[in-house]
Amino acid sequence: MSVSLPDHSRQQQQLQLLQLQNAWLERILSGGRSEAGSLEGLCREAEQLVPDACACVMRLVDSDRLSVAAAPSMPEPFRAVYDNAILSGSAGSFVVSILEGSACLIEDAWRDPRWSSRRELAEAHDIRASWSQPVMMDGALVSGSFTLMLPRPGLPDEFQQSVLQVCANLTALLWRHQAHTRQMWHLAHHDRLTGLPNRDYLDAELERAILASDRLGKPFALMYIDLDNFKDINDSFGHDFGDRVLLEALRRIRASLREGDMIFRHGGDEFLLILENLEDALAVDAIARKLIAAFAAPLRIDEQTVTARFSIGVSLYPQDADNAQDLLKHADIAMYQAKAGGKNDVHFFEPALAKRIQRRMQMEQEIRRGLQRDEFELYFQPQYLADSDEMASLEALLRWNHPERGLVLPGEFIPVAEKSSLIRELSLLVFHELCRIGRIWLDRGYEIPRLAVNMSTAQLTEACNDRLQMLLEKTGMPADRIEIEVTETLVMNRGDSGVRELQKMRDQGIQLALDDFGTGYSSLSQLKKMPIHKLKIDRSFVMDLEQDEDDRVIVRTIIAMGRNLGLEIVAEGVETAFQQQFLLDNGCDYIQGFYRARPMPVEQVEKLLFRSES
Ligand code: C2E
Ligand code: MG
Ligand code: MG
Repeated sequence: MSVSLPDHSRQQQQLQLLQLQNAWLERILSGGRSEAGSLEGLCREAEQLVPDACACVMRLVDSDRLSVAAAPSMPEPFRAVYDNAILSGSAGSFVVSILEGSACLIEDAWRDPRWSSRRELAEAHDIRASWSQPVMMDGALVSGSFTLMLPRPGLPDEFQQSVLQVCANLTALLWRHQAHTRQMWHLAHHDRLTGLPNRDYLDAELERAILASDRLGKPFALMYIDLDNFKDINDSFGHDFGDRVLLEALRRIRASLREGDMIFRHGGDEFLLILENLEDALAVDAIARKLIAAFAAPLRIDEQTVTARFSIGVSLYPQDADNAQDLLKHADIAMYQAKAGGKNDVHFFEPALAKRIQRRMQMEQEIRRGLQRDEFELYFQPQYLADSDEMASLEALLRWNHPERGLVLPGEFIPVAEKSSLIRELSLLVFHELCRIGRIWLDRGYEIPRLAVNMSTAQLTEACNDRLQMLLEKTGMPADRIEIEVTETLVMNRGDSGVRELQKMRDQGIQLALDDFGTGYSSLSQLKKMPIHKLKIDRSFVMDLEQDEDDRVIVRTIIAMGRNLGLEIVAEGVETAFQQQFLLDNGCDYIQGFYRARPMPVEQVEKLLFRSES
């Protein structure tokens, strides 16, 4: 039963509704309150605009159920009946409006068949009129209803219909905004490719796991997993393929875990796992071994098979750290230890080793910075004919002009670089610099000997000769001016493919020398297979020639053996006249060592070259 109002009262009401609408729009856009809190407030304000009304918002769940989203004045038994109720066309206006997708205005719930199945409830709680407006998302999808119920029969007047309409719209807007906020949060905290939670989320989860562990008295583990060869996979097959490798790897990781273990993506090829409820550290070891075993079989992607290998580092709470930050740092260090130990392995954090590892990690960072700041420089050490002043080669030796520590020798940083991808950058720099300087010398007309350069294991890859030839071409450095020094261990590690690459270099006119000879374990038959020109006797045999008869025998034998194989012989580390004379007497071809010349910077070499010109 609607009563018509004088114009000014109607205007007053419209104004109030407009104010409500504006205030809520602002509130929704600025976020803040929880969904339930917001909707309850909206119901209360609607109740003020329509005296005696009881307002409620129902939400559609799983397409066939209702939940009471907000109903601040609804009696508890009433709410209990409708929360989680199956939709039915006789259960009241809020259900009917959802089912029909349009307003359902019931004049008297005690008589209307659309209320029949819940009639006793309406009677018990004195509900007569019941008006519902569907909450439509994006104008079409019904997601709930907004309802006003009154203790007397009647239909809504124009204003009351506007209230229903406005409140239903505001509810839709609020829900959409909340869904959007949730989605934004998800995007910000999850990785796009894998859908896994990311680093930001990890921090919060670690804090939670720490609290839970304290409460339950059970340790938990943080596991750092790093794909050893992801960069190679990406480089060889492209990033799309790399992405699929990651997804397949993730699938295998998941299959090895227990329910409740959490996985996070931490940058490109790193995953972090939180493993809770552990009985002891052994349990983690078992999981880690299972993970490694899961990757024993190669991954098949697009007819391609790739082998993914992982290094796994583990830190335990509370044993290894008492806070999230240290736990992460220690898992990282342990992972680093696993990598350093030869990859595809599991390592638990060990405090004793941590210092060393940390120093190494720091050194890596410093090398990286040094590369950026141009702190590396080539020195050269001449190799002379044993019986004259004629220079046979100039060996390039890398030096690091460290801003705090001064001149750092390669023995300190090359082994660190060799354990990471930094060695590739350093080697490229050395080759580039060598060719650049050599070219300048040639252009100036200097009569230069061969320029020798040391090669690391990481460089002797399949395409290494091609790359080298490209570089020579680019810099205009003739191949027959270059000498490459490899070690026995390097050639043996690379096997036949390494020997093939060396043979290609030799075919191009590059001279090859076997460095540090005598420290490796190559047999005579292996030595015969290596396409080398020169043997360099390691300094350790030369050092004590004067005092040690054994060394004298060894050096004599190496020289004789090398000669029989048709190789030239160089002695490294010659420091005294005695050593030089002994080597000369026994048929050594070349001498390299402080006795003749120390490694020196470019300007000093230039003086030497210039002098020999004049
Ligand atoms: P290496 O190739 O066997 O180089 C010879 C090393 O012996 C050089 O040390 C040189 O300074 C040192 N040496 C030469 N004559 C004497 C001597 O009479 N007495 C003594 N005590 N030492 C002498 P350096 O420059 O410290 O280099 C050490 C090693 O680092 C090199 O051994 C080489 O294996 C590596 N290395 C140096 N530069 C590079 C580089 O550019 N790339 C790579 N991959 N490795 C490099
Ligand atoms: Mg060398
Ligand atoms: Mg050497």
